[in-house]
Amino acid sequence: MDELLRTPVQFVKGIGPKRAEALRSIKVKTLEDLLYHIPRRYLDRSTICSIGDAPSSREVTVVGRVVSFSRVPSIRGGKERLEMLLEDDTGVLRCIWFGGIRFVEKALEVGKLVMVSGTVERDGLYGRKMIHPDVEEFSEEERHQLHTGRVVPVYTSSSEMKRVRLDSRGLRRVLAPVLDEVVPHIQDPLPEEVLARCGLMSLPEALHFVHFPESVRLAEEARRRLAFDDFFYLELLLAERYRERKRKEGISFPEVGDLVPELMKRLPFPLTNAQRRVMREIWEDMKSPYQMNRLLQGDVGSGKTLVALMTMLIAVANGYQAALMAPTEVLAEQHYITVRSLLEELGVRVGLLIGGMGPSQRRLMLRAIELGEVRIVVGTHALIQEDVKFKDLGVVVIDEQHRFGVVQRLKLRRKGPSPDVLVMTATPIPRTLGLTLYGDLDVSVLDEMPPGRHPVRTVWRPQSRRPQVLAFVREQVRQGHQAYIVYPLVEESERVDLEAAVQAYEKLQRELPDLRLALLHGRMRGDEKEEVMRAFKEGRTDVLVSTTVIEVGVDVPNATVMVVERAERFGLAQLHQLRGRVGRGKARSYCILLTGERLSDDARERILTMVRTNDGFEIAEKDLELRGPGEFMGTRQSGMPEFRIAHLIRDSDLLPVARREAFLLVEQDPDLREHPLLREELERRFRETSLIDVG
Ligand code: ADP
Ligand code: MG
Repeated sequence: MDELLRTPVQFVKGIGPKRAEALRSIKVKTLEDLLYHIPRRYLDRSTICSIGDAPSSREVTVVGRVVSFSRVPSIRGGKERLEMLLEDDTGVLRCIWFGGIRFVEKALEVGKLVMVSGTVERDGLYGRKMIHPDVEEFSEEERHQLHTGRVVPVYTSSSEMKRVRLDSRGLRRVLAPVLDEVVPHIQDPLPEEVLARCGLMSLPEALHFVHFPESVRLAEEARRRLAFDDFFYLELLLAERYRERKRKEGISFPEVGDLVPELMKRLPFPLTNAQRRVMREIWEDMKSPYQMNRLLQGDVGSGKTLVALMTMLIAVANGYQAALMAPTEVLAEQHYITVRSLLEELGVRVGLLIGGMGPSQRRLMLRAIELGEVRIVVGTHALIQEDVKFKDLGVVVIDEQHRFGVVQRLKLRRKGPSPDVLVMTATPIPRTLGLTLYGDLDVSVLDEMPPGRHPVRTVWRPQSRRPQVLAFVREQVRQGHQAYIVYPLVEESERVDLEAAVQAYEKLQRELPDLRLALLHGRMRGDEKEEVMRAFKEGRTDVLVSTTVIEVGVDVPNATVMVVERAERFGLAQLHQLRGRVGRGKARSYCILLTGERLSDDARERILTMVRTNDGFEIAEKDLELRGPGEFMGTRQSGMPEFRIAHLIRDSDLLPVARREAFLLVEQDPDLREHPLLREELERRFRETSLIDVG
C-alpha cells in the first residue's frame, strides 16, 4: 500500500511529465502529496453570492458570464489595466486587474462561465467592482452540481499549474478517478478503537470526503481526521521519547544536603507555595536514578531564579558541579552577581563564562571548571563550546529556554555523563504549543507571584506626549525610584542601531539634565555592561537607557517605570518581558508604551492587549494568534514541526485528545510491535525531522 502512495504523480492517470513538472511548484511529487493537497475552500450554494446581493467590503465568490473584457491604456502615467464585465441574473460586476494582465486575459472568453472571488467595492460606473479578484473557469456541469446541492472543492493553484490546465477544475478531473480507484484500498494505520473513541472517520473516507464531500460539514469532518493524524504521530513520537527518557539512567542524588536550608535561612522572605511545590517535584526527579528533564514555566517575576539556585545547590551539596545557562551576556552577568552574592557566605565558589572574556581570563576559568574548583558555573552559549569540560557536572539549568534551540539543550546536556536538566521559561508557552514542543518533558508551573506585588499599570501614549512622560519619570525618581527607557533595534545593522541608541541617549541627557543616566547596549564589553548593571542595581544611576538587551531577566526591584520607545516595533512577548522588569518591589509600577501616531492593525492590537491584561498566558495566546506558531517560536531553531493539515490554533482541541491516545497506545504497546503500520508511518513522517534525534 505504502508503495502505491509513493507513486510519482507523473504516473497518475491524466498527469504525465508536463503536468508533474507543474505540480512541483506546489511541492506535489507523489500520489500521496496530491491526495494531501486538500481544497482551500468549498463552494456550495450557501457560499456563492449573486452579484445583486454581494455585500461591500467582504470577500465573496460569484459565478457569472463574461460580457466583455478589454485592456485600458494608462492615462496620465498610470498603469495599464484589464477590465472585465461579469453578469448574472441579478446584476453586473466590474473586475479590474493591474498586474498579471496577460495571464488573466488568456483565461477569459466572452460568454464563458467564470467564478471570481474577491472583495466587493462600490463602483461609480456599474455599482460594484472587484480589484484583482481570483478568477477561475467554471463549467456548466459544475454550475449544475451547485444547483443540485453538491459541494465543489476549490484548490490552491499556481500559474505554472494553470498553464497546464491544472486549475481547480483540472485538479478535480484528475482526482476523481484516483478517489474511486486508489483511495478505497488505502489501509488505515490508526486502530479501530482510537477512531471509535475519538469519533473519527477512517483514512480512506477522510481522503475521499475532504476532496469530494456531500456537505461542507462533512468536508470539515474529513479534514479534522487528517489534522488529527498530524498531532497523533507527533505525540506518538513524543510518547516514545518520554518513555525512553524515563528509563534513561541518570544521577541519583541521595540527599538534599545542608546548602538549601542554609540559603533559606538567609533569605529575607519565605518561599511561595508554588516554589515549595516545584522544589518538591524537582527533588523527586533528582532523587530518582533516572535523568531529570523538567520544564519550569513561570511568568516574569514568579521567582524562577531562586528555584534554579536551590536546584543547583542540591547538586553541589552532593559533590557535583552545576551550570546555569542564560541567553544573553547581560543576563548571565546578572545571574552571576545574584548567585555569587547569595552563595559567597555559604562557601560555594561560583564562576562566570561568557564570550566577552579575555583569553587569559577564559583559560583560567576553563581550568577551574575542569578541575572542579568552581562548583557553579554561570554563562551564555560560551558554556557549550567544545573546549569547556566539567569535572563532574550534575545538573544543568537553562534559563529563558525559548531563546535556545533544542540542539543547544542537547549539547549542554552532553557535557556530563547524564546530568539532570531543568529548563526554565519566562514566556508562558500557550498550552497548545507546550504540548507539541515540550511534550516529552515533565512540566512544573510557578503559578503564584511572591506576595505584595501590584500589577503593573500599563498606558499607551503617542510621541506627542513624550514631555509629560519624561516629567513622570522625573517625578518617580524624585520619589526615590528608578526607571528604564528602552529603544528597539530598528535597523538590520548593529552599528546603525548603536548610533541611534547613543544619539537617543545624548538627547535624553539634555532632556533630563538633573537625573543620573546610564547607557547599556549589546556592543559594550562584558565588564562594562556588568559595571552599568551594578551601578543601576545599587541605585547609583536613576535611569537605565537601553537597547533590548535588558529584555529578559534583569531584576532591580526599585525600578518602577518602564518606558518603551517605538513600542509598535516590539512583539507581544518582548513587550511583556520588558514590562516584567518593573513591578518587582512593593511600590506601584508603570509601563508606558510610546508609539507613533499611525499604527498597523496588528501593532494596535498588540498595544491594546498589553494595556488590557497582565496575564502572561493570555498574552502568549494572543501572540500566537497574531504571529502564527512558526514565528512565535522562531521556527527553525525551535524544532517546531510542520504539520501537513493541522492548524495549531484552529484544531487545538484535537491536540490533547491525540496526546492522550498516543500515550495510551505507547503504554500498551511500547515498541508498536502490534501496530506495524503505525510504526512504519511514524518512521516515515519523522525520518527527515531533527526532532527524532535531538533532546
Ligand atoms: P523570574 O521568574 O522572572 O526569573 P526572579 O527569579 O527574577 O523572577 O524573581 C523576581 C523577584 O522576586 C526577585 O527580586 C526575587 O528576589 C523575588 N522573589 C523570589 N521569590 C520570592 C518570594 N518567595 N518572596 C518574595 N520575593 C521573592
Ligand atoms: Mg528570570
